[in-house]
Amino acid sequence: MYEDLRERSLERLREIGYDGYALGGLSVANRRKTWSASSTTWAAPAGGQAALPDGVGTPEDIVFAVQRGIDMFDCVMPTRNARHGLLFTGSGDLRIKNARFKADTGPLDPECGCYTCRHYSRAYLHHLQRSGEMLGARLNSIHNLHFYQDFTAACARRWSTGASPNGRRRSWPSAVNLRQRDRPRAV
Ligand SMILES: [Zn+2]
Repeated sequence: MYEDLRERSLERLREIGYDGYALGGLSVANRRKTWSASSTTWAAPAGGQAALPDGVGTPEDIVFAVQRGIDMFDCVMPTRNARHGLLFTGSGDLRIKNARFKADTGPLDPECGCYTCRHYSRAYLHHLQRSGEMLGARLNSIHNLHFYQDFTAACARRWSTGASPNGRRRSWPSAVNLRQRDRPRAV
């Protein structure tokens, strides 16, 4: 990645004065390195314009981006991972296809209030995934999308209450803590 070229590009784009900016070129293969190397360029453009990072991402990436003032996301991750049986929960990610879920009659995520978690067990989702049933992909997608909505809402609450007057955060919980402590409880 050529950080200086990215800076120059952003500078010129700011001169034009668009209403919003798409931030692309994030290396998925080496995400952490890319984030830290490009923290300046990835910061939301000054002036309140919209900033949309392309293909972001994991809950951890979202926390990183929100800390830099980005509040709009578009990514296939929740649904693509759902179709492959990778599910996001408050206590971490799980692969529903794993044998340990074969006889697990508990809900996918006890803290989640989504349709899937309220009506189906891990064992049933495991069966659907193993059998290649499309219903599994749909139920998994419902859960992952619900999880992302909860998670980003928790980020927004933290942003509105945790930022200091100069816009910098005083303290920000890790993605793991946001998953576990800051999500609204299921009702
Ligand atoms: Zn759920």
